[in-house]
Amino acid sequence: MRLDKRNLRVNLEHNLISISSIYGRKKISFEDNPMIIKYKDWSPIAGTLLFKNKNLYLNLVLEKESPNININNFKITDFIGMDRGIKNIVVGSNKQFFKSLHLKEIKGKYQYKKKVLQSKGTKSALRKLKRIAGKERRFVSDTNHCLSKEIANSDFKVFVLEDLKKINNSKKGKKFNKKLGNWSFKQFETYLQYNLEYLGKLLIKVNPKHTSQMCSKCSYIEKANRNGSIFKCKKCGYELHSDLNASKNIVNLGISEFNRLYVNQPIVASHESYKPTNSLVR
Ligand SMILES: [Zn+2]
Repeated sequence: MRLDKRNLRVNLEHNLISISSIYGRKKISFEDNPMIIKYKDWSPIAGTLLFKNKNLYLNLVLEKESPNININNFKITDFIGMDRGIKNIVVGSNKQFFKSLHLKEIKGKYQYKKKVLQSKGTKSALRKLKRIAGKERRFVSDTNHCLSKEIANSDFKVFVLEDLKKINNSKKGKKFNKKLGNWSFKQFETYLQYNLEYLGKLLIKVNPKHTSQMCSKCSYIEKANRNGSIFKCKKCGYELHSDLNASKNIVNLGISEFNRLYVNQPIVASHESYKPTNSLVR
């Protein structure tokens, strides 16, 4: 049963809810728990009442004003670029790698189980299939929750990602979808966005064009700069992991985008330091 502000009132201070029903307003008290304590200063705006295993549950939707983002306080070292990929789910321009090896393994196991059950096609197999699909969804969601939270809580304040809308139709997008069996990069982004909002931090999205072919040191673009996981610039000879090179390009693009978006705001640092050179990146 869905409830909203008209028929649901919640008092988190005194653990009381009141619901209007056809028998008038019903007041119900509930037990305290760590989640309730965590959200005492949030405002409940809606809820779902459910009856499960002889217990009554209330799922609450709460809201809270996010803190103002203080753009004037950002420094170059507050920026981090993140490349999302197949071997490494996320590579930060700070050289932090989040590997997807075990994720791929688990994901592969689910895929295999689903295939077997699908080919059986019996009623009980279909029931199992539904359960496994649910487990898989929760696994992906949990991983994205943990990852986005960990990243958001790092010391960085401005997080730069490639714009997925522009990736999906590209070669990289097709490769993404195939290899990781539609690992939800979009979901990761959504979770990261709300974690950042909660902390008063900023997310910037940039055009992914050339991020993997461009040298992050001298800006020279050539396809042959990259050979699998090795990036070696044909012009200046700069060599590093290709995902790391991409994340450095992403952070540099993010800094330019930041300047473009907030041009009326006082600038973070002198213009000199915005040149896309390696010294910008930690
Ligand atoms: Zn170069």
